[in-house]
Amino acid sequence: MIIMDSEEILNLVNNDRSELHSKAQEIKTNTFGNIVTFSRNLFVPVTHQCRNRCGYCSFVSDDSNSWITPENYQSLLKDAKNANCKEILLTLGEKPEEKYQSAKDYLNQYGFDKTVNYVNHFCELALNFNLLPHSNLGVLTFDELAILKENNASMGLMLESSSYRLMDKNQAHYLSPGKDPSLRLDTLIEAGKLKIPFTSGILIGIGETWEERIQALFDIKSIQTKYSNIQEVIVQNFNPQPGTPMSSWSAPLEYDVLLSISIARIILQPSINLQIPPNLNKYRLIDALNYGANDLGGISPISIDYINPNHEWHKEQELAEKLNSSNYELVERLPVYPSYEKYLNTRIRKIIEEYRENEKALYSSNR
Ligand code: SF4
Repeated sequence: MIIMDSEEILNLVNNDRSELHSKAQEIKTNTFGNIVTFSRNLFVPVTHQCRNRCGYCSFVSDDSNSWITPENYQSLLKDAKNANCKEILLTLGEKPEEKYQSAKDYLNQYGFDKTVNYVNHFCELALNFNLLPHSNLGVLTFDELAILKENNASMGLMLESSSYRLMDKNQAHYLSPGKDPSLRLDTLIEAGKLKIPFTSGILIGIGETWEERIQALFDIKSIQTKYSNIQEVIVQNFNPQPGTPMSSWSAPLEYDVLLSISIARIILQPSINLQIPPNLNKYRLIDALNYGANDLGGISPISIDYINPNHEWHKEQELAEKLNSSNYELVERLPVYPSYEKYLNTRIRKIIEEYRENEKALYSSNR
């Protein structure tokens, strides 16, 4: 096992980047070999209303009509089933009812007081179709997480950054109280206490320094050390989008993206899967895999990436061929990785068992 502290890593960032790449490559190859996983999903943008205003976000909207109704959702679930998706990715703005009266009114109309209960209902509906929910609602309390745990195969919250500096005026998180790193770390800790299979990650290129980027990875690592529930970490690159306050910013440089992947692979425990969004790394996909990544996250045959609508997802077949030509094998996985299934309740585990029984090629602990 390779163990380096932040000072050693920073020293190599400044003096010998190739050393970091080769160490990361070694860890990745020893742990995951040539297997690259993905989850076939349906992306459901439950609502675009959000109490925050991140400088890079094109997802957020004041529009009270941006909610997916239960009726429309049921029809989306049928589409997902027909497309052989297994995961329902529920992504939405954070605590919209704290900012908008229209959000409160919308929820009340369907008999809910809080967004968390509305989403939990969506998770129950997905399970009725034998589909596995993965919810991202932003920061949550222990009690809110406990409700959602019963109906989710896994959940997620990007730490994004451990930098409090990014909450200052003219910085990316100035208008986003929910991006306070302490609140996000608290949510990760509470999810850890509840043993929820969890995804976190960092967002690179939003004004953070290398020191801050490295600190965020060590913060995630320490939660995994204590609670063993972080199943994957995403290294996501900032994608400037039209109409946002940061639209004129540059995307992070290629070698910074690749180096961040390698550093994440070195810092995090080998048990953590390292994910990159393939649609944001189309032209360096193989390098990103060579330098430490082993997972491509959710890829949908029927919905767009609502967070990065200007970047299409690959078609599965094309992606498999591209990877094959570089000696990688693309394998479908479920939204929970095999070694974290033990944290789930009987109902969800039964659905997983049925999938495994019917589709032997799914990524399993026997690989
Ligand atoms: S990135 Fe997330 S938290 Fe920030 S404004 Fe957009 S939806 Fe809200």
